[in-house]
Amino acid sequence: MSMITSTNAAHSAATIPSRSGDFTARAEAVAKVAAAAATSVDRDSRFPTEAFDEIRRQGLLGILVPEALGGEGASPSDVIDICYRIAQSCGSTGLIYAMHQVKAACILPYADGNPTLEAIVRRLAKDQLLLASSTTEGLAGANIRESEAPIEYAGDQISLVRKATCISYGLEADGIVTTARRSENSAPSDQVLAVFLKSSYTLDPSHSWDTLGMRGTRSEGFMLRAKGVVGNIVATPYEKIHLRSMVPSAHLFWGAVWAGIAASAVARGQAFIRSASRHSNGKVPPGAAHLTSAAASLHTLLGLLARAARKYELAIDDADALQSLEFQTMITLTKIEASELALATVLRAMRACGLAGYRNDSEFSIARHLRDVLSSPIMINNDRVLGNLGGPTLMTPLPRTIMR
Ligand SMILES: Cc1cc2nc3c(=O)[nH]c(=O)nc-3n(C[C@H](O)[C@H](O)[C@H](O)COP(=O)(O)OP(=O)(O)OC[C@H]3O[C@@H](n4cnc5c(N)ncnc54)[C@H](O)[C@@H]3O)c2cc1C
Repeated sequence: MSMITSTNAAHSAATIPSRSGDFTARAEAVAKVAAAAATSVDRDSRFPTEAFDEIRRQGLLGILVPEALGGEGASPSDVIDICYRIAQSCGSTGLIYAMHQVKAACILPYADGNPTLEAIVRRLAKDQLLLASSTTEGLAGANIRESEAPIEYAGDQISLVRKATCISYGLEADGIVTTARRSENSAPSDQVLAVFLKSSYTLDPSHSWDTLGMRGTRSEGFMLRAKGVVGNIVATPYEKIHLRSMVPSAHLFWGAVWAGIAASAVARGQAFIRSASRHSNGKVPPGAAHLTSAAASLHTLLGLLARAARKYELAIDDADALQSLEFQTMITLTKIEASELALATVLRAMRACGLAGYRNDSEFSIARHLRDVLSSPIMINNDRVLGNLGGPTLMTPLPRTIMR
């Protein structure tokens, strides 16, 4: 059995056995720890430290890294399943894990032949580094496909000063993966992706994080000042990384988190209806119809994600297929549909529970689920995504068959 060594002194010096392939048991171990901390993570808007200690203990941060570079070569489906399981316990923990894996997916295919990036990738597996993301920038910077701050060059050395409006777990991360304008002379849409480890940047706080939900993600704003070498920049233009890696992995991993929150709400609805039925001599409570409709939308959501994940895995090594209008339309609509279905499912589960679901202080409370899942349509705003999709939707031929 191979060994994963967690040597990052900041985290743990323990050597843990690789349980390659046994992702289910490892995710469930994390889910158990995350569930115990979920209420206080939400109430105190704090980073889920206990869950991430367990995630590192289970060696789950570097699983996408190929075996040759010290990882486990996990598939997107493996990550999707882990996100789903963890988010059933704590939405914030699930989303942080998902965001980290999205960043890993955006670096791994492009690190080959770049010694700086290869070293970071090896450390991702060996030291269980946690990566954060900076795409949102400035006051009007929610357009991920445009950057304001440029990379500045001095020979081989580079620097970046960026108004990062929102970096989830920025203070807790070991590294930041950021978009940037290629150079001072480049257009805003001519972007690169750069990776900086903690020792090479500073974060000066600019925006706090006191939100309705996803409170444990601590998505505060910062002035990011980073220094590095040209090797910190991914050579492939961000435009291509965006289509081939960022969009599919973000939509699927985030979608799995929203599905996990929805599944947990449905489980509470089931528990409530069972309890109410016991208290009324077996009579089916009136809220049962809402529960049925919540379960139906959950199943639709799971089917949608499973189908999209299968299509992604089939196309994953084919850049042209990933960039095709058909795939991009499918994977973009998956984000819209997944966020809307997750929200509808949680709302239905809450209606199944009635006041018991609406309360904060009930064992059947759906309050945290609802607050957390409300972030899904605005995390890359659905209106913006739909607006951008107007043209491509007109151009994409409709399927001629159902059985594909
Ligand atoms: C929990 C959470 C964690 C996050 N973590 C990070 C992170 O780690 N790093 C990071 O960089 N960012 C992060 N973000 C920010 C996220 O990526 C988006 O940038 C942000 O949620 C978009 O905010 P917005 O809706 O105000 O912006 P916009 O997309 O600018 O939308 C503003 C308003 O304009 C409307 N609008 C926009 N475009 C259109 C259109 N075409 N047609 C009609 N209406 C339109 C929207 O409906 C909305 O009302 C996070 C967000 C959340 C919720």
